[in-house]
Amino acid sequence: MTELTLFQEEVRDFLSDRLTPELRHFGEAYPGFVSPRPIEAEWRRILNEKGWSVPGWSVEYGGTEWSAEQIMLLKREMTLANAPRLQPTGENLVGPVIIEFGTAAQKSAFLPPIRTSETWWAQGYSEPNAGSDLASLQTKAERDGDDYIINGTKIWTSHAHKCEKIFCLVRTSNAGKPQAGISFLLFDLDTPGIEVRPIITFGGEHEFNQVFFTDVRVPVASLLGKENEGWNVSKFLLTSERAYSYATVTHDYLNKIRGFARQVRGRNNGALVNDPTFSKKLAKAEMDLQSLDLMEAKALQLMKTDMPASSILASANKVQGTKLQQAVTELAIEMLEHYAIPLQPRLEQPGGLEQLIGEPSTLTALAVSQYFNDRAMTIAGGTTEIQKNIIAARGLGL
Ligand SMILES: Cc1cc2nc3c(=O)[nH]c(=O)nc-3n(C[C@H](O)[C@H](O)[C@H](O)COP(=O)(O)OP(=O)(O)OC[C@H]3O[C@@H](n4cnc5c(N)ncnc54)[C@H](O)[C@@H]3O)c2cc1C
Repeated sequence: MTELTLFQEEVRDFLSDRLTPELRHFGEAYPGFVSPRPIEAEWRRILNEKGWSVPGWSVEYGGTEWSAEQIMLLKREMTLANAPRLQPTGENLVGPVIIEFGTAAQKSAFLPPIRTSETWWAQGYSEPNAGSDLASLQTKAERDGDDYIINGTKIWTSHAHKCEKIFCLVRTSNAGKPQAGISFLLFDLDTPGIEVRPIITFGGEHEFNQVFFTDVRVPVASLLGKENEGWNVSKFLLTSERAYSYATVTHDYLNKIRGFARQVRGRNNGALVNDPTFSKKLAKAEMDLQSLDLMEAKALQLMKTDMPASSILASANKVQGTKLQQAVTELAIEMLEHYAIPLQPRLEQPGGLEQLIGEPSTLTALAVSQYFNDRAMTIAGGTTEIQKNIIAARGLGL
């Protein structure tokens, strides 16, 4: 038995021991990217007890010394076991940059509550006129004694209404290149002068917000890294965001698709999974996923040794991973046909799965919302076109 197989057994034993039916219910039947707060917090608490809440962080800050393969394996096994979906911005985005660029005081103030899910962080990057061209951002932070005074607005701020804190890119200088006047601030979302206004999606969900800042006063100690050097921090964070975020969830979709296709009939009257046209599409997705698994593990490993190389691979992973996610959610709709039609929001309540219409899989209830959600994946975290520009310019020197 290899070390990785032994580790997989340990993970599976832990999941069968600690993942209660209630927690599994939310992993299986709740459609959002993140499980409801109390459920998410309960699951992170259990992981934290085991020392597995933030496995990618160094041991000093409550992480592990695991290899990239072990980290990916834990995430995959949790998803396949229907563990609640964890809020990623603390663990995967701001946590690593606090570890890399933060002062001792920032590390001790901000890292422990991420590990236990006591604080959720929102990402304040995009503005109404600064998305792809992020360096043109205009939210200003002006120095006033020991404080900054912030004015401006951020948009598409996912889950800000559920978060206690925000990490924010702000303009602290107009001298030189636009990138050279940006700083990275960490502060509380309940600071006076902040208004979080909902933006409701066409699916009727409240995930996005626009956040307005009017004379918001935060201490200079909110600065992460040096003043006017926030662009480097922001790039480091974007690499974490793009490097390894796509394979895990795709394993889950494909697993559910395979399970459903074994139970329903295809055109030749045998199981759909044996239908040549369908099985060819499934096999293609599975091969693409295997390659994505390897690329994500490589990008994660490179983050420790060669950040510039990791950042280019992260852009490639984002292009490939989001394309695959979209292909797989399309395959689910194609396979389910009329089974996908009933809207079944009551499944979200504990016990709701017993009322599932169109058995035998929760895919029947979730496939349409996943299909629509995943259209946004080629935009969120930087669009596909921008990733291709990064690969061309920084990777290929074009
Ligand atoms: C689900 C989701 C969650 C998000 N969450 C957050 C969040 O929490 N915090 C946050 O700060 N932001 C968030 N965003 C915003 C996201 O980062 C931006 O939408 C994204 O960077 C694109 O910016 P934009 O919407 O302004 O589009 P634009 O930049 O206006 O782009 C419009 C189109 O033009 C293309 N384009 C632009 N410039 C170029 C170029 N140079 N070359 C080729 N094509 C180009 C783009 O690819 C795109 O197709 C989220 C977005 C989504 C969809």
